[in-house]
This record gives sequence, structure tokens and C-alpha cells, in this order.
Amino acid sequence: MSKPLCVMKFGGTSVGDADCIRRAAAIVKAAAAKSPVVVVVSAMSGVTNRLIDAAKKAQAGQSDPIPALIADLRKQHITALEALVSDAKRRAEIAAALDLVLRELDRFLQGTALLRELTPRTLDAISGIGERLSTPLLSGAVHELGVPSAAVSATELIVTDAHHGRAEPLMAQTRERSAKRLRPLLDQGIVPVVTGFIGATVDGVQTTLGRGGSDYSATILGAALDAHETIIWTDVDGVKTADPRIVPEARTIPEISYNEAAELAYFGAKVLHPNTLRPVTAAGVPVLIKNSFAPEKPGTRIIARGESNGGGVKALTAIRDVSLITVGGPGIVGLTDVLARSFAATAALRVNVLFVSQSSSQNDICFVIPAADQARTVQALRNAFGAEIAEQTVEHVSVDSDIAVVAVVGENMRGIPGIAGRTFSALGREGVNIIAIAQGSSEYNISLVVEAAAMQRALATLHKEFHLQETEGALQEASRFARQS
Ligand code: ASP
Ligand code: MG
Repeated sequence: MSKPLCVMKFGGTSVGDADCIRRAAAIVKAAAAKSPVVVVVSAMSGVTNRLIDAAKKAQAGQSDPIPALIADLRKQHITALEALVSDAKRRAEIAAALDLVLRELDRFLQGTALLRELTPRTLDAISGIGERLSTPLLSGAVHELGVPSAAVSATELIVTDAHHGRAEPLMAQTRERSAKRLRPLLDQGIVPVVTGFIGATVDGVQTTLGRGGSDYSATILGAALDAHETIIWTDVDGVKTADPRIVPEARTIPEISYNEAAELAYFGAKVLHPNTLRPVTAAGVPVLIKNSFAPEKPGTRIIARGESNGGGVKALTAIRDVSLITVGGPGIVGLTDVLARSFAATAALRVNVLFVSQSSSQNDICFVIPAADQARTVQALRNAFGAEIAEQTVEHVSVDSDIAVVAVVGENMRGIPGIAGRTFSALGREGVNIIAIAQGSSEYNISLVVEAAAMQRALATLHKEFHLQETEGALQEASRFARQS
């Protein structure tokens, strides 16, 4: 075993301006005093969105906004640089590096505008610029605090497939390259600061890991380097029992399992990129979610087996902006391939199916997809079932976009009977109509489709029903009391 190593990632808001970057650098310095550290960094907040927006405009032939964007980005980053790095020579070096990246951006955007063509590969090159600009700033700020640091491009470390826009790492190559490039730096006491979000194919073509992908970069490197932990520094205290904007009593969960956290990520609790936990689950590297604006708070620890909170339910999550699609009806009875044909249609469109339910009569199936994909999905399904629809006057593909999915998540729900029962009776009592139900056989998650207008009530009711507002200590106390009495 190599000696303990910590990989830590700072999200966009945690490097949003010079003050934030200085705070991040202080966190790095404190950690580096204890063990070797590899830092991963996102673009300054808002930058990736602006880059993508500029790319889309260039694709439409608009080159006018390009100079203003470049000037803005230069100003934003140079202002931060001047506040962070006092040594004139280092400052000039970093400024020159930033200028090179900005010049590259200019050429990418001008080329796109000229051709009016934006390939996924070009979009990756453009959208990854933000990380290439933020990395030298954080590295400079760490250096400024007296800790030697070097900016490193993840294109030298993370080898991916060529699926532009959502590339997946090739772990064996990534492991080899990361060790070769980073170990010598770590051995010299240098803190590498690595660009999040991006990687490169075996041939060296830059890719991205998908929006929010810096989390994934961190866990990929955590696994590749056999880190003893990976810390995700963000702007919230950790994983919450529910979205605090919807359920004000929501509290931070101290400990949660990989499975539970992944379940929450899939279900739109936007703490993590959905693939984040994959590499570390295999490697067993704990992940900590912590608030860079309140580093003294304990945060949430994600490990193989999260501490049970007694009741089995860990958290609630909800997704809005989704549509329920039902395929079925009298003419479809006896049609054996409804499932296969429906999901062939969604797969061909690369539509993400979030929920599936089928009644045992097999007369109809329903599933939930992002509302943004509704129109093209319905069109594709109507085409797929065109013949059946033509023969019948009955509508076989119907849509309800006035819904939300509420999910009850907890690994220890498995084997605890009655959680589904309590869920339904609590909601029934509060008059929440349940439109469809699904429970995965993993039993980590019970998902319910409810009317959009009832979502908040459903979450508040279930949060109370499962005592999620109470602290871990109070819950342990309560279950001890229950056992004694
Ligand atoms: N900057 C990228 C994005 O906004 C990656 C990240 O922040 O994780 O999607
Ligand atoms: Mg971000």
C-alpha cells in the first residue's frame, strides 16, 4: 500500500472569485500539512454555461459576441490572478498561460462561426476551457501560501473513450498515466492542481465527462491513485434528507452508503454527477461532501455501508420537469413486444428513462422521462406503434406532464417490512393521490408518481413520517427506548 493520499475537488462556486479561491487554497494548505494532496478544480461558476452559450451562437453564425466574451473572461481571471499572486514573475507567467488558452478559445469559436458547424468534439474543446483557466489560478494561490504547487491538465491523466460530451474513463490507462505523472510531483512535496471535467482519448483528443463532471474527475483520480479519501468541496453542508428549499426541516446526513448516494444522484438531488460514485465504489475509497464556506462542519461521509438511522429511510428526493408516458389501451392487449418496442424508441433517442411501471395485466406500461424530451419521445412512440394506432380509434400513447416523482431512499429499508405501507398511509391521510408506483428489487428506493401540485405536501408528509428532521443521536435514543419498552 502507498501512503495515505487525499484527492479533493473544488466546485465552481468554491472558486467563484479571488476570495473563494484563497479560501480553497487555505483548505489545501491545511490538508497538505497532513498528507499528500491532489486537487481537482471546476471552472469558476457560470463560466462553462457562458462557453456553451457562445459555442451555440457561433454555430448559428454569430461571431460578434466572441470578442466581448474573451475580454470578459480575461478580465475575470486576470482580476482574480492579481488579487491572488503577489510575485510579479509568477503572475506574468500565469497571465501568459491564461492568454494562450483564451487565444485558443478565440480560434475555436471563430472556426465554429465560420463553418456554422459545432461537432461534439469541438463543443468539448470549447466547454473545457473554463477548467483550463481556473486551474492555474488555484495552483498560484496555493503556491502563494508557501506550498509548492503545479497546474496539471487532466488530458495527461484521465484517458477516456471517444464519447464526446459524456466520455467514460478507461481505468487501466488512467491509473498508469496518473501514477506516472503525479507520483513524482507528490514525492517532491508539490501539490498538483488538476483540471476537472476534461480528459482525453488514447489519441490525445480532449473530451469532457458531462456537465458537472468535475466530481467524476475527482473520484476517477481517487480510485486511480488509491487515495484514502476523496473530498468534494461544494457550497452546501453535505447530502440532505430532502431539498431544503422544499422541506425547510431537512438536515445534513452524517453518513450514507454509496448505493444510497447514487440513488439520490440519479433522482435529481443535484449533489453529485450521477457517475461519481462508480470508480470509488469499486475501490472502496470514502467520499466526503463538505462545504468550502464552512469547512468546520462535518459534512456527509459516503462509504460502503452507511450508518442506519433506525427507521431504514435515509432521504427523500423529488424530480420535477418530468412527464409520465403511458403506452397501452385495449388494442395493445396481447401485444407481446410493447416493452421492447417502447424502450427501443427511447434508447434510439438516448432519452433517460427515470421510472418504469407495468401492471401485471400487461395492458399498459408507463414510464417517466425528462419533460424536455417529451415531444420527440411521443412522436417516436406514435411512429413505432403506427400500425396498431391506425387500426384502432383508441389512443395508445398518452402523456401527463403535470407530475413529479417522489422517491423514498434508504439501503436499510431492505428487509424492514412496512415502509411502503407507512408511505402510502401517510400520503393517503394527507390526500396525496398516487398515480404510479415503482420499487426497485434492490429495495433502496420506492418511487411514486404524484401530481406536481402535491409534490411539496408529499415530501413534507414523508419527512415527518420517517422522522428525518431528527438528529442521528435522537433517533438512536428513540430506538433504544423503543427496544426497552
Ligand atoms: N465546469 C463543468 C460544468 O459546469 C464541470 C463541473 O463544474 O463539474 O459542468
Ligand atoms: Mg460546476
